[in-house]
Amino acid sequence: MMVVERTVADEMPAERTTPLPFGFGVLVGPYEALLRGGGAETAHWAGCFAGRNVLGIEADGTIKGCPSLPTTAYAGGAVRDIGIAEAWASAPPAVVRTQKPRSGPVGGGGFSAGCYDADVCEGGCTWTSHSLLGRPGNNPYCHYRALELRKQGKREWVVRRLPAPGTSFDHGRFDVVEEPDPDADSTAQAAKAPWPALPRPEPATAAGHAEPHLPSLVLCHGCNSYVLPGTELCPHRGADVPARQDVYDRALADARQASTRLARIMRDS
Ligand code: SF4
Repeated sequence: MMVVERTVADEMPAERTTPLPFGFGVLVGPYEALLRGGGAETAHWAGCFAGRNVLGIEADGTIKGCPSLPTTAYAGGAVRDIGIAEAWASAPPAVVRTQKPRSGPVGGGGFSAGCYDADVCEGGCTWTSHSLLGRPGNNPYCHYRALELRKQGKREWVVRRLPAPGTSFDHGRFDVVEEPDPDADSTAQAAKAPWPALPRPEPATAAGHAEPHLPSLVLCHGCNSYVLPGTELCPHRGADVPARQDVYDRALADARQASTRLARIMRDS
């Protein structure tokens, strides 16, 4: 067993808690469209909302970028004292998360730094990562990450090292450990090749957002993973993305036609 990320001193007792494969923090992996959007292809994770289109106010008026974020690391001013606009304007950007973490390593570093989708995903939900590991980004509860590790015959666990102190919006501390995956298909094991250098579009500033956003991803109908718009060769499984889209569009048109015919037959019979 190898410690991938240690968050507290080694002498603290460890309690193995949660296996990570297929955790709830499904990010931009295959099945994302099904799991997040019930099949809607445009409903993919596109980075943490905190401070961008979400605002949190605790019961005592403390302002945060998202209601879930831990108070100790993400509290801005108190709206009971100075009002929302002033509290928001005067809070450090990193606290209310009005700035994307573009200045640091992409996706928060670690596994996410080498992820194809890191520019868009930004390493996942800030609350999840911070509540586990005491820092944002590089979220270990990532479906894509679990699948990639499984290809390498590995899996990860979180191990509790410190309990939450019991205060409002607190959190414990966990380590991430890696071990051989006993369920991995040894014939499918392959070393993770680094992503090829891909041309990435420049972020554009969208109306209503202070921060630049990359365009939404599109689904590759060869492997059901997301790729950047305009991609021809799928970086995940090597499919011809436009050709697969064409096959999908024709199948969808056939299915719609059949559905209309069936509805007519049922109505007329
Ligand atoms: S590996 Fe990191 S950046 Fe990539 S999808 Fe998972 S959480 Fe997001």
